[in-house]
Amino acid sequence: ASAESGAPTIFDKIIAKEIPSSIVYEDDRVLAFRDVNPQAPVHVLVVPKFRDGLTQLGKAERRHREILGELLYAAKIVAEKEGILDGFRVVINNGPSACQSVYHLHLHVLGGRQMKWPPG
Ligand code: 5GP
Repeated sequence: ASAESGAPTIFDKIIAKEIPSSIVYEDDRVLAFRDVNPQAPVHVLVVPKFRDGLTQLGKAERRHREILGELLYAAKIVAEKEGILDGFRVVINNGPSACQSVYHLHLHVLGGRQMKWPPG
């Protein structure tokens, strides 16, 4: 299957708690957990529990507007819980040329160090 086929991903097993993760925030629709390969002292992934076609941001449709807002708000809650509200970055990698590797929409919340811009 191609990377963008919509097949299940590792995040389904994390959401189902079939494989362990370090959970930072959870509600009925959103899960936030620490990235296994952190790129900053704080590196948390925020994902919708129900993918509903959102393999990547570029597949978003009007019906996804509410969950998209919830994900962004959850990123703020994560930053607050992690003590990085004064400076943090939210990233979405969309597609192969942006180095997306898991095809279940996710926001990266990064902080705890000086972030560089542009990221390259
Ligand atoms: P992408 O490159 O698709 O934007 O980001 C995928 C992220 O998922 C990567 O930063 C990678 O380290 C993380 N990741 C991949 N597999 C796992 C896993 O099994 N557990 C956790 N916690 N993170 C993962």
